[in-house]
Amino acid sequence: MKTNSQMAAPVTTWTSLAQWAAEHKLKAPHRLKDLSETAFVIDSPNGAMVLGIGSREVTWNGINLNLGFAPQLIDNEIFLHGADLQKHLEPLLCEPLLALPQTKRVIVIDPGHGGHNSGTVSVLDGRMEKEFTLDTALRLKPLLETNGWTVFLTRTNDVDFVNSNRVTFADAHHADLFISLHFNATGDRSQNTSGIETYSFTPFGMPSTLTRNYADPWYANFPANDFDMQNLQLAIQLHNALIRATGLEDRGVCHARFMTVLQGQRRPAILIEAGYLSSPSDAKLIESEEYRQKLAETIANALK
Ligand SMILES: [Zn+2]
Repeated sequence: MKTNSQMAAPVTTWTSLAQWAAEHKLKAPHRLKDLSETAFVIDSPNGAMVLGIGSREVTWNGINLNLGFAPQLIDNEIFLHGADLQKHLEPLLCEPLLALPQTKRVIVIDPGHGGHNSGTVSVLDGRMEKEFTLDTALRLKPLLETNGWTVFLTRTNDVDFVNSNRVTFADAHHADLFISLHFNATGDRSQNTSGIETYSFTPFGMPSTLTRNYADPWYANFPANDFDMQNLQLAIQLHNALIRATGLEDRGVCHARFMTVLQGQRRPAILIEAGYLSSPSDAKLIESEEYRQKLAETIANALK
């Protein structure tokens, strides 16, 4: 597979999924008849993807994932954008699972926020995200070490850490993987949004799932884009484990470019939003030691 720096320009064409499947020696996609919307399934020995016409949200082995572009129906056939075929379908359907380093493996765990940057706030009692991210990271460190990882935390106490320094920190420690831990919140409390989201840096050539008023240059190449495939595979692996272990709502594997904590990474890197502190039910869980221990054990087991 070519790295992005070898690519002249992002792919912008639409291709019939049946044609792509044939080229990749997979069975043709078939239509799901029992759904009200028009949906298709494509599978490979790695698993199955269910795609709806007009929706960027797909499922991969039962886990929610956001494509860059909604599939289209053309002459009664499903067509996908070339960037999604290259950056989502190929890594999941055609490539082997993410290979973790087996020896001398180094991971940086980044407890989000710290110091004056306190992050989101619990709707229950005002306790702060920075406290829960640090506690989860401190629980995770010894578990990863038991599994043979050398672990560095970007912070071990309540200090400010500029986002770009988190990437520099990972470079300085020659990290093989980077995981940033966060807890979410929504401004609109009436919605009672809850659940887990896992972010990987937006693959080259497509718009992000989330932008929040930041620029979202789909045509630009960032250092993290050299790891598009591994970022996606890592996000899927961790997100799948977390949803199954916690039973929280699956808000999907998402992509964003605004996170400087991911943009400059030169290793597979993801950011986990492990529940909503603005949701009373999620906040109750996040404030419990049992839940944070479960998060730590789940992440450690998924990286064995
Ligand atoms: Zn956060």
